[in-house]
Amino acid sequence: MQHSTGAGRLQLPEKPREYAALIDGRFIPARDRELIGRDNPAHNHPVSLYPKATPEDLRDALSAARRTVDNRVWSGMSSADRARILLKVAALIDTHRVELREIECLEVGKPIGLVDREIGGAVAHWEYAATMARHSYGDTYDTFGNDALGLVMRNPVGVVSMITPWNYPLMINSQKLPFALAVGCSAVVKPSELTSGSALRLGELLMEAGIPAGVVNIIAGTGLDLGEGLCTAPEVDMVSFTGSTAVGRKIAAQAGEKLKKISLELGGKSAQIVCADADLELAAEKVALGATRNAGQACVGGTRLIVERSIADSFCAAVQAHVERLRIGDPLDPETTMGPLISAVQKTRVEGYIKEGERDGANRWTMETSHAKTLPGHFVQPTIFTEVRNDMSIAQDEIFGPVLTVTTFDAVSDAIDIANNSRYGLAAGVWSTNINKALQMGRRLDAGSIEVNTFLAGVPELPIVGHRDSGVGSERGRNAVQEFTELKTIQVQLSPV
Ligand code: NAD
Repeated sequence: MQHSTGAGRLQLPEKPREYAALIDGRFIPARDRELIGRDNPAHNHPVSLYPKATPEDLRDALSAARRTVDNRVWSGMSSADRARILLKVAALIDTHRVELREIECLEVGKPIGLVDREIGGAVAHWEYAATMARHSYGDTYDTFGNDALGLVMRNPVGVVSMITPWNYPLMINSQKLPFALAVGCSAVVKPSELTSGSALRLGELLMEAGIPAGVVNIIAGTGLDLGEGLCTAPEVDMVSFTGSTAVGRKIAAQAGEKLKKISLELGGKSAQIVCADADLELAAEKVALGATRNAGQACVGGTRLIVERSIADSFCAAVQAHVERLRIGDPLDPETTMGPLISAVQKTRVEGYIKEGERDGANRWTMETSHAKTLPGHFVQPTIFTEVRNDMSIAQDEIFGPVLTVTTFDAVSDAIDIANNSRYGLAAGVWSTNINKALQMGRRLDAGSIEVNTFLAGVPELPIVGHRDSGVGSERGRNAVQEFTELKTIQVQLSPV
């Protein structure tokens, strides 16, 4: 159901690759700092070493970013020049596509044949953000009479701390960084300590593209060590976070105390509503994909199937058949279509939910075959639960593994009630060939991204918005200009000539 990009088999590196942090235009190699090591989650084989940022590194990164904002090093450039540099970054990511997909495969455990789509997505976001650089402008009012003018200016918000998760490392950094840069902000980026490689490598590409020293700083470390400084330091104007709802709350509290602007892209538990009049073959394929892509570790993954009762049995059988076609195994093998979970902790968590679902009385189906039997990594077999009540933890909590719950409905209004009965509101899918009905359902679903007869079709033009516990603010799209800017007005009284 997913198509390989023709990548060859990848080898594990003999020695882990050493990455360098980027601070004020200087690279700090891993060996100059305490090391953070990363093992491939399928083989438990060491693949990466990152330099753990010291408190001084954090201070230097923040003050470099602040200096570039205060001296208008980047925001003072013409938007055309900024756009040109962002396009160069896009081209460099494209040129290094194979290397970047190998980093994501080794660190995240994504199947090598499938990562290319993500790298292509990153390129598309940098290209699109470059067009935004030239569309960040305000308004002029010439309507007050008496030779008075009003200017509404849109200025870059300043220094943005960016804290990002492990599941789509390059992509999520590419949903933030180019948009902030487009409007003239500077940034300190802290990727997840589990998967920092692509962000650190991106730092080198940014310098090659001509981003001035200090405008972007990329450091590695844990949220525990660096989070508070990134959220509360006086140099910081805004915190842009993607990650779990629990950590998002902490960040909001810390940044809120200091009255920093925030943007939070958080967890999800997306519903997929399938009506009897849908293209059921297509819907079954996409529902299976939505629940298992990246081994179920996707914020927008459609992990709650809400299906019309009259077709529920045959539809579940079709979804099951698609899941059975997955080739679960070694992510280095181009034939693999589902890899391991990110860590042992995550595996224990997902298995805990699977046991809880059974204990709560849901009916469990787990895929039997696996090509991962000889591998030591954190593999979990895809699982589908039917006869699920919406109050069960498997239906309410973000499991972040390949676990699909199935609930049935008779009336469309019931489907919407079930879908909206969740603390999350990130995304939802509707499957029906009756477009009027599908759009009416889309209007009533309380989630930021609704997809009709398609799923996981993210494009940079469309903002990502989390409703309720799924977030605050938005990312991507034209609105990114609003997110990373603040308004200022100037009123002018002209004298008669
Ligand atoms: P996480 O919240 O554990 O970590 C995210 C980032 O926050 C990491 O860089 C981590 O080091 C840092 N962090 C941890 N504790 C911190 C603290 N106290 N202060 C500051 N920073 C801290 O999330 P994760 O496990 O890396 O990623 C999975 C989560 O991300 C899921 O909940 C998923 O839904 C969510 N996610 C959301 C989106 C979206 O667009 N809404 C996209 C991808 C992932």
